[in-house]
Amino acid sequence: MWQLFRRERMWTSEPLKGRYDIVIIGAGVHGLATAYYLGKLGVRDVAVLEKSYIGSGASGRNTAIIRSNYRTPEGVVFFDESVRLYEALSAELGYNVLFSQQGHLTLAHTDSAVNGLRVRAEVNQLMGVESRVIWPPEIKRLVPAMDISSRPRYPILAALYHPPGGIVRHDAVGGGEAREAARIGIAIHPFTEVIVIGTSNGQVTSVQSTRGEIRAGTVVNATAGFCSTVARLVGLRLPIVTHPLQAFVTEPLIPFLDKVIVSATLHSYVSQTDRGELVIGGEIDPYGSYSLASTLPCLEVLAAHTLELFPCLSGVKVLRQWTGLCDMTPDYSPIMGEVPGVKGLILDVGWGTYGFKAGPVAGTRIAELIASGKTPDVLKPFSITRFWEDRLVGEKAAAAVSH
Ligand SMILES: Cc1cc2nc3c(=O)[nH]c(=O)nc-3n(C[C@H](O)[C@H](O)[C@H](O)COP(=O)(O)OP(=O)(O)OC[C@H]3O[C@@H](n4cnc5c(N)ncnc54)[C@H](O)[C@@H]3O)c2cc1C
Repeated sequence: MWQLFRRERMWTSEPLKGRYDIVIIGAGVHGLATAYYLGKLGVRDVAVLEKSYIGSGASGRNTAIIRSNYRTPEGVVFFDESVRLYEALSAELGYNVLFSQQGHLTLAHTDSAVNGLRVRAEVNQLMGVESRVIWPPEIKRLVPAMDISSRPRYPILAALYHPPGGIVRHDAVGGGEAREAARIGIAIHPFTEVIVIGTSNGQVTSVQSTRGEIRAGTVVNATAGFCSTVARLVGLRLPIVTHPLQAFVTEPLIPFLDKVIVSATLHSYVSQTDRGELVIGGEIDPYGSYSLASTLPCLEVLAAHTLELFPCLSGVKVLRQWTGLCDMTPDYSPIMGEVPGVKGLILDVGWGTYGFKAGPVAGTRIAELIASGKTPDVLKPFSITRFWEDRLVGEKAAAAVSH
């Protein structure tokens, strides 16, 4: 008989032990990827502790854009490695994550924005990433439905075209990683919140969870929107402010858009899913907050801006709107690696509005750091020490709206 439904559980939870070599706090794509790649390196005495359900944080709320056309050489190299890992992820996990490399267009509506795109294109090309500035006739060929006339408030002057960019299924990525991690022996514990991190002589020794104490010499903070509160458990103040970020989805439409479209000037972006829905989002809410409330003003502004690009969408119905939390750093780059003065604590935070695409590369490289004790070169620019060594990795131009 044909088996039309997958009947086995994606993963099962073993009883919580009182000791693990490594505890990872947070079961988003970063915590799960780190656990999975640690398991692949043969490091299996690992527990992932999640205060809610798996994927309940930003990893289950994002708009799943993958790309590597960043602004700094450090960022481009790092995110390019992630795109390559995403290209192989379905085969790696034995689970289809539906990665659609449909291409990504960042629009410029002003002369200064065109100059910004030229700089990004050159940095991208120098680092071997496919990315180039294109002009209205080619934009019209790639996205026939978009209004490239001089009618809108901000006519489109050019775009940065990045063919390898695209979208993926976020639930499939997190679920596939959790399934494989559990299969190779990693313990995944949902509904287990870490409330204390124990230290002795500057070395992490344990965590106290809502289900009891767990001893561990290595603890990874992969808690994104909550990373500052978790860091404070060891007295560490992170240069991070948590902001809400909203998005919404429309009713399904016939396929008409096979590129991800981003406009930093209009503070909005849009893509069409395989099911035909339009996924639309924008910039972070302008105030720091842990609120998951969605607001009507945000929906109205994003809808109006989307209509400037695609007047043909007038009358389309909105299905749902939601909000996630983003851990924003001053330079719009992540913070990864060890913390001077707190031995055994590893940071994988500061993922802001752009961390979903980095799950595989951050997971591989943090796992490598833990297993070898050596910081991989690709992580070095993103150490927390950059904030007092005056070497920020400024990615705001390429990361503020273009997730
Ligand atoms: C609307 C929206 C759209 C986005 N779009 C994109 C995009 O298109 N592309 C992109 O690359 N990125 C995007 N992002 C950003 C991306 O989603 C995040 O950067 C990424 O998912 C962070 O993953 P993570 O695993 O670090 O954190 P999360 O997925 O947030 O996981 C952290 C987990 O830690 C848990 N936790 C917190 N505190 C504790 C504790 N004390 N004990 C135990 N567990 C704890 C939380 O419950 C949570 O599940 C978007 C974000 C949002 C909100």
